[in-house]
Amino acid sequence: MASFLLRIPNNFRNFSVSASSNGAPSGVGQQGGGGGGGPVIVEIPMDKIRRPLLRTRSNDPEKVKDLMDSISQIGLQVPIDVLEVDGVYYGFSGCHRFEAHQRLGLPTIRCKVRRGTKETLRHHLR
Ligand code: ADP
Repeated sequence: MASFLLRIPNNFRNFSVSASSNGAPSGVGQQGGGGGGGPVIVEIPMDKIRRPLLRTRSNDPEKVKDLMDSISQIGLQVPIDVLEVDGVYYGFSGCHRFEAHQRLGLPTIRCKVRRGTKETLRHHLR
């Protein structure tokens, strides 16, 4: 499959990317490492995002409820940050937005994806 790099303005909400077998949108792995690319913004299936710290953090239910109302009315206005390491996506923040999407039953979430190494991942898990 031809690869391509996506750069999408924040207010462009109705975009989706076809996922490969590991859920990696084409082109996401092309930034960083001196390649001149920065983060890319893509829709990623909810079930492709690992959240290793989920059990250690608790969300404010009121915030989640407010976000659910707002997201269902105007959509997600600020993507969550996601780290991509070897084609696997890890989310460490955006917890309320993520839960709001889960509760709304949305299949995908808009993410700002940065590529990292295993060392970056270890740093996040410390
Ligand atoms: P989170 O754990 O998701 O970061 P916060 O309550 O700390 O939750 O922040 C909510 C974030 O969600 C804010 O940065 C806000 O700008 C963003 N956001 C994105 N889309 C919406 C929306 N539709 N309505 C309200 N806030 C939104």
